[in-house]
Amino acid sequence: KLAFTPIAASASLLFSKLPHSCPFLFSPSLPQIKIQNPSELLRKHVIDWPWLPPLEPRVAAVAPIGSDGRHYRSCSSLKGNNSCNKSWTGKLAWENKTLQPRHTKKVFCMYVQQASKSKCKVAIKPLELENTKEPPLNLYKPKGPYTASIVSVERIVGPKAPGETCHIVIDHGGNVPYWEGQSYGVIPPGENPKKPGAPNTVRLYSIASTRYGDSFDGRTASLCVRRAVYYDPETGKEDPSKKGICSNFLCDSKPGDKIQITGPSGKIMLLPEDDPNATHIMIGTGTGVAPFRGYLRRMFMEDVSSFKFGGLAWLFLGVANTDSLLYDEEFTNYLQQYPENFRYDKALSREQKNKSGGKMYVQDKIEEYSDEIFKLLDDGAHIYFCGLKGMMPGIQDTLKRVAEQRGESWHQKLSQLKKNKQWHVEVY
Ligand code: FAD
Repeated sequence: KLAFTPIAASASLLFSKLPHSCPFLFSPSLPQIKIQNPSELLRKHVIDWPWLPPLEPRVAAVAPIGSDGRHYRSCSSLKGNNSCNKSWTGKLAWENKTLQPRHTKKVFCMYVQQASKSKCKVAIKPLELENTKEPPLNLYKPKGPYTASIVSVERIVGPKAPGETCHIVIDHGGNVPYWEGQSYGVIPPGENPKKPGAPNTVRLYSIASTRYGDSFDGRTASLCVRRAVYYDPETGKEDPSKKGICSNFLCDSKPGDKIQITGPSGKIMLLPEDDPNATHIMIGTGTGVAPFRGYLRRMFMEDVSSFKFGGLAWLFLGVANTDSLLYDEEFTNYLQQYPENFRYDKALSREQKNKSGGKMYVQDKIEEYSDEIFKLLDDGAHIYFCGLKGMMPGIQDTLKRVAEQRGESWHQKLSQLKKNKQWHVEVY
């Protein structure tokens, strides 16, 4: 019952348990299927097998799935109609056909099914964390951080994205539990350049996974980190001596590297779960999408008995261009599976134009849907903002203008939203 996270998928066929006397099967020219693009997963692949092996062969598929660096395996016999191994249920399926069993040619057909196209949630073994009333807070402090290790670091933006953003999976062994919407602190190795002799200071990063992590076992946390680079304003050239310490440490780290973490921290962005049918309007720019990825996985990817989401989640994501979109395939899948419960609007500032011909920012999308948004807020929707600080003034101006056009006072409305705990902002 594992859902398929189509971030970087490839599947290759390996042939095993075959007679040693057969040189062909052990030659490097074994048939292989490489699926680079998850959309190809639905295609049928046919391999011409030049002879019928004397013993029943086994076929195994190995696929790195999702961004947690894990591999899932499946083994099945070439005989039989559907040798779908249980471990692949809901994720990959096999089918094979013997067309000319008595002859020396065998055609093997396989289809790999992207389970996320179907409404298949990941069965979750609930953690103790489901039963606590309050979230874990500051279990590890800067003076006594937890030493975790890096599981994987994956660049998740395309070549035309300005800058680099990485998805980083950290193994905390279940020792630094958290709730969706919280942050971890990271202490980069080395000396604080402003205080020689003292260690580097903590940097905060919103956690981009659910409490179960990308491996669904509660042992990992994922971060979405943008590499901070410095361009000299006079020359316009990059100056590596002034690059961001922690983001570069994280984006350059390798699986197995040790990392000092603190936290978890933050309560403002926790996902209120008291009403599973509530509306959640999420407005994120760039890495500000991190907490929302966590919420959405909890709502649509994991089968958690204590939280059966039946409300509306509406994500507005602002990035520079298509190549800069973050977790787009994950979100697009939710859109296909849960069109009643999920809406997803993108503002691509360098690719789209707003109605006045200027760059398209999230506030322009908010304006486009302002009637619906205001109505949802009046009905008790939660609204969340996450990303760079600079996003807020433009958004606030738009909301104020829309409120005035509707004959409402934004000042009053905002204080009401804050009072009702509907307004959640985490900008940095
Ligand atoms: P620093 O070393 O702290 O440098 C900061 C900036 O100063 C860099 O841009 C650097 O290039 C520049 N600089 C360095 N030296 C000089 C100099 N001599 N002159 C001029 N400029 C200089 N970030 C994310 O990527 N993802 C997240 O999910 C995320 N979540 C956050 C959540 C919270 C609650 C907060 C508060 C922050 C969050 N951040 C997040 C931001 C993150 O904490 C760091 O601030 C960010 O990664 C930069 O840290 P750094 O160590 O790389 O850069």
